[in-house]
Amino acid sequence: MEVINITKSYDPDFVAEVEAESEQNVRLCYQCGNCTAGCPYTFAYDIPVSQIMRLVQAGQKEKVLSCRSIWICATCESCTTRCPNDIDVARLMDVLRHMARRYNYNAVPTVRTFVDSFLNSVEKHGRVFEMGLMAAYMTKTGRFWTDTDLSPKVLPKGKLSFKPHRIQGRDEVAKIFERYKEQQR
Ligand code: SF4
Ligand code: SF4
Repeated sequence: MEVINITKSYDPDFVAEVEAESEQNVRLCYQCGNCTAGCPYTFAYDIPVSQIMRLVQAGQKEKVLSCRSIWICATCESCTTRCPNDIDVARLMDVLRHMARRYNYNAVPTVRTFVDSFLNSVEKHGRVFEMGLMAAYMTKTGRFWTDTDLSPKVLPKGKLSFKPHRIQGRDEVAKIFERYKEQQR
């Protein structure tokens, strides 16, 4: 087991930032482990979600923001539902992902590429254009055969259109992206 010297690496600003952005009191976590027990991705995580909670309490910014788990999290909210202290753990994981982006930690680059491709597609078409998203993701990552084995199952069911869907409110969706970009300047 790795030993962390928290007196050396404790970052109080990190704890305050996570609490302010998530609107959660991380000190309420008493390490019961319920969130980890219910998390469907514990088998794939490098740090289980209850240990992430502990590391946040201990102000371990580097360790938390550079872990793979926050990118693998599926936002299923099982952890939130199971927490006896009503901590919205899934929201906290979301905040940690945003912080990791902001501070340039990129433990699983393909997830970031997928999210960026997804949002670009929504910005352009008003909703996701699945075929375009797949093409953009594969081109940027070089993962040309990702999930192609599913095509024979979904194509006959009309789940993958070769053209973007025309939807109402497309301009309004684009304006949301414009407003967000203006706020970031
Ligand atoms: S939201 Fe994320 S951390 Fe929580 S249970 Fe689901 S996958 Fe696990
Ligand atoms: S379920 Fe809640 S109290 Fe228990 S370890 Fe997870 S976050 Fe902490």
